[in-house]
Amino acid sequence: MKTPNQRKKRVYSEADMSPVSPLAKKQLAVLGFGSQGHAHALNLKDSGHNVIIGLYPGSKSIQVAESKGFTVLPVESAVCQADVIFVALPDTKQARVFVENILPHLTKGKTLLFSHGFSIHFKTIIPPKGVNIVMVAPKGPGHVVRSQYVEGKGVPSLIAVYQGGTKAKNIALGWAHGIGATRAGVLETSFKEETETDLFGEQTVLCGGLSSLVMAGFETLVEAGYSPEMAYFECLHEVKLIADLMNESGIAGMRFSISETAKWGDVSVGPKIINAGVKKRMAVALKNIQSGKFARDWIKEYNGGYKRYDALLARDAGHLIEKTGARLRGLMPWMKKRAIKGAQASY
Ligand code: NDP
Ligand code: MG
Repeated sequence: MKTPNQRKKRVYSEADMSPVSPLAKKQLAVLGFGSQGHAHALNLKDSGHNVIIGLYPGSKSIQVAESKGFTVLPVESAVCQADVIFVALPDTKQARVFVENILPHLTKGKTLLFSHGFSIHFKTIIPPKGVNIVMVAPKGPGHVVRSQYVEGKGVPSLIAVYQGGTKAKNIALGWAHGIGATRAGVLETSFKEETETDLFGEQTVLCGGLSSLVMAGFETLVEAGYSPEMAYFECLHEVKLIADLMNESGIAGMRFSISETAKWGDVSVGPKIINAGVKKRMAVALKNIQSGKFARDWIKEYNGGYKRYDALLARDAGHLIEKTGARLRGLMPWMKKRAIKGAQASY
């Protein structure tokens, strides 16, 4: 493995935070109340900050946010009232909402905050001068940002400043502190680095890579005549147990807990499955991200009405692994039941 020389990144923790938050006395607005939006809003409120929510008329989340004690306003009014505005909207929708509902009310000195650099890095949003542009990107799904905070823990996060210098950076740090991220560690990065690594991770390892790996394993066993229930436990259910061990103590820590036979299979067979060919295709995916091709294709898909996106999701939703899993998870009453359709509404 090639390892270019790199400086160690500074990590901010609770000890680096001043007792008076840079967000004290500021009005904060969260636009959207989905995965990230609900988590940031609730954590910041519980950390003692003033948070309002901006949503579009008819949003299914208005009632949910109000039931959690928030004042919910149209996006324009929330932007007018707030000093710091978190754009917690889907990446593809941010550009239109920015031009129509945010920009006209974005006066100098306000701060626009993102939790992913897509719109700024790929320039679907061109921010005006005099407005701070920052990022606080938790390295975890929104519901985990919330549940970890409630448990007194936090999700490690990245901060970045695109515009606004030290003042803007302090606001980002204050926000990261307010959502509980400094409990776990906050790294400073750039919009470019966050965007490219985040897209790469979710496409090739965390979401795309893992889903495809799990389904390929499941299909191989079922096609060889083994029962779908066996294949489900082997290739999906146990993923969490292994991933938890890796998360706690790395690959070596995971290997400490598994049998010698499993370890031998791991080191001798694993690299033949996920081999140099996979790394080559990963490099292609990374190139497509860096060149902006992935972003252009994704925006085209959105503009075309999400036809292929919906079809691919529907194909996988009908996979035997989902039906098998629903039945088996039903036997485990402690498994969290989540309404997948309209999931945001149940936050
Ligand atoms: P979601 O799709 O979960 O939620 C989007 C929210 O925006 C919903 O509440 C939706 O309303 C609302 N919304 C949609 N259109 C408008 C509009 N025109 N005006 C106001 N509100 C609107 O988004 P995510 O939380 O997944 O993504 C938000 C950002 O966070 C993205 O930049 C993403 O990349 C980033 N991110 C997400 C992570 C995650 O865990 N999901 C992880 C890290 C970063 P309604 O409820 O009615 O649908
Ligand atoms: Mg992402």
